[in-house]
Amino acid sequence: MRRKLAAGNWKMNGTGAALAEITGLADMYPDPSVDILICPPATLLHRAAGAAQGSSVGIGGQDCHAASSGAHTGDLSADMLVDAGASAVILGHSERREDHDEGNEDVRAKARTAMDAGLTAIICVGESLAQREAANTLDIIGGQLSGSIPDQSTGQNLVVAYEPIWAIGTGKVPTLEQIGEVHDFIRARLERRFGEGVGRSVRLLYGGSVKPGNAADIFAVSNVDGALVGGASLKAQDFAGIIDALQGA
Ligand code: PEP
Repeated sequence: MRRKLAAGNWKMNGTGAALAEITGLADMYPDPSVDILICPPATLLHRAAGAAQGSSVGIGGQDCHAASSGAHTGDLSADMLVDAGASAVILGHSERREDHDEGNEDVRAKARTAMDAGLTAIICVGESLAQREAANTLDIIGGQLSGSIPDQSTGQNLVVAYEPIWAIGTGKVPTLEQIGEVHDFIRARLERRFGEGVGRSVRLLYGGSVKPGNAADIFAVSNVDGALVGGASLKAQDFAGIIDALQGA
């Protein structure tokens, strides 16, 4: 059985005061039936891990470099994330792919390093609105999956997040049928490549304008094992609405 996962991506939001949201979540969920992960900005990682220590809340990074160390000003290695207390890292988010020109090969190299360091790689895939309107969604997702996911992937070190770019931060959400179609497709691709055992054990998250009000419907869709949440993960109270829906799914 795949344990469900509610993952929050704080992006470039939050200073020290935001740590109270993590302790708030930890207090609200002493023994949740789902995994809870918060990915704060790198400046907060160490303190966030301290705030979450001994609790049900895990801490993750939002990116890492493909190299394990070296002359890469401003970048962070996977080992540094582990050292700061992270157990996971988001890779290939569309904002990284767009703002930093990251391609599938870059994401795959980062994922390899992350997995070697013992992190769970949450690899994001998703189509643009133009790609969806041109009926290219599954082709795009298929290419991102085969290009971005390393061969060493397992149900423990890989999570795939389907995040249609046009749904991120926009309030627009695909229909439940559209979400189901893509998630079933991702599951089939993983099973084909890694075999049924591994393919069925990888958790698949949906991301893109998930809110407390729409979460229960999304979590009822086949092969949706949780969510990657941006805006609604910034406040413990909002994120709790999503966690509650996932626990009830
Ligand atoms: C995200 O950035 O991963 C995301 C899903 O954002 P939002 O929930 O704000 O749409």
